Amino acid sequence: MTELYKLSIHEAGELLRQRKISSVELTQVHLERIREVEPKVKAFTLVTDELALQQAKEADKRFASGENLHPLTGIPIAIKDVICTKDITTTCGSRMLENFKPPYNATVMERLNEAGIVMVGKTNMDEFAMGSSTEHSAFFPTRNPWDLERIPGGSSGGSAAAVAAGMAMGSYGSDTGGSIRQPGALTNLVGLKPTYGRVSRFGLVAFASSLDQIGPFARNARDAAILLQTIAGQDPRDGTSSPTPTQDYSAALSGDIKGLRIGVPEEYWVEGTQPGVVSAVKESIERLRELGAKVNPVSLPHTKYGVAAYYIIAPAEASSNLSRYDGVKYGYSYRDTTDMWEAMEKTREFGFGPEVKRRIMLGTYALSAGYYDAYYKRAEKIRTLIKQDFDKVFAEYDALVSPASPTVAFKLGEISDPYQMYLQDVFTIPANLAGICGVSIPGGFSEGLPVGLQLLGNDFKEDTILRIADAFEHVTDYHNRWPSL
Ligand code: GLN
Repeated sequence: MTELYKLSIHEAGELLRQRKISSVELTQVHLERIREVEPKVKAFTLVTDELALQQAKEADKRFASGENLHPLTGIPIAIKDVICTKDITTTCGSRMLENFKPPYNATVMERLNEAGIVMVGKTNMDEFAMGSSTEHSAFFPTRNPWDLERIPGGSSGGSAAAVAAGMAMGSYGSDTGGSIRQPGALTNLVGLKPTYGRVSRFGLVAFASSLDQIGPFARNARDAAILLQTIAGQDPRDGTSSPTPTQDYSAALSGDIKGLRIGVPEEYWVEGTQPGVVSAVKESIERLRELGAKVNPVSLPHTKYGVAAYYIIAPAEASSNLSRYDGVKYGYSYRDTTDMWEAMEKTREFGFGPEVKRRIMLGTYALSAGYYDAYYKRAEKIRTLIKQDFDKVFAEYDALVSPASPTVAFKLGEISDPYQMYLQDVFTIPANLAGICGVSIPGGFSEGLPVGLQLLGNDFKEDTILRIADAFEHVTDYHNRWPSL
């Protein structure tokens, strides 16, 4: 039973309900695992061990009373430090919020607490979710459990590494341009970005509000379905959350994808994608064919403008969202002066790291009166064209398949040019711009490192992409592999 951490959520849930294991036992195994491997991986900004044990005891009491319980009751879960947790430090990977204890819970957190999860900790991330490697955390970089010399992806690198290393059974991250799918791909997990509006953003620290979505990391599609179900649905506190009814994601996992029409976007075979990634993805596409899916090439002609449009729109929104950090309301405050302007300037000088400053400058510039039409407005037009590309293709196809990331995990420090880092998200950004859902799943290996397969679905078709992911797991064993650590 020492390897309880290797169970999946649905297996552990079954054992908990049959009372073959207790949540306290399951939690202790995970806390032990954290003691053992966290010094090497560094996935957490905060380990909430006392809270975890307390929540585990609560869960066990509920099991003992024979209540009809939620599939996440008593399950150890990690939360990206961008999601507000009441009275528990929420740093967003930034000095600016190093000591910030939110006075309220995010809606997602409320739903998870109601379900009765055991929160093992808050996870490390690129500052304000800006990055693709978790190297932009103001505190320390997180390492990839598959190779400690390499990055786990970003910005939700801590949430990915925690699950890949067996320190949590599932976790949550946020995806603005790829921050769930890319780290999921690089650590051999299922990482799902829901359709824009599927999950409440209330209590998610804002980066780019028209792109941000919270979503789960899991070791398989069935667990991802449970994790998504728990947080999905309209929230009166988020006006952009959708009234469209949620589906039963677990029930959608029929194992059968015969006749499903899957498109392979031609524009996603770009130069610069590693040959090992291309061959793993091509092989995985063959598996989908063998499962009976009708796989054909499709075209999304405006794909090549995606990264450029994103790096106008996301910084523009960020420059507005981050203007709230002025040293007055909350967060870090420079106090060694009586001059108000100097206080504000120094607060931002010391509170924000270089990548965040770069984004604020880019966004402010793009929104300035003289350049608004040339940059922001054009980027928004491209966004519409990208959405129209998807609309056309989804009129005839149920899902699309592509690589999730052009490379496998790279070495810490290997990419120092910001532009090269931005290109990491070439395959994930279009889904955020269009608002559609996407998932990255374990899709093979290249030189011992995980390769992610991306499945894209139309608005609110999370059930379809999870169904494909699950069927794919029936004929592959990539998702069952563990890093040696
Ligand atoms: N890597 C992208 C960026 O730096 C995406 C980040 C994200 O999805 N939060 O903006």
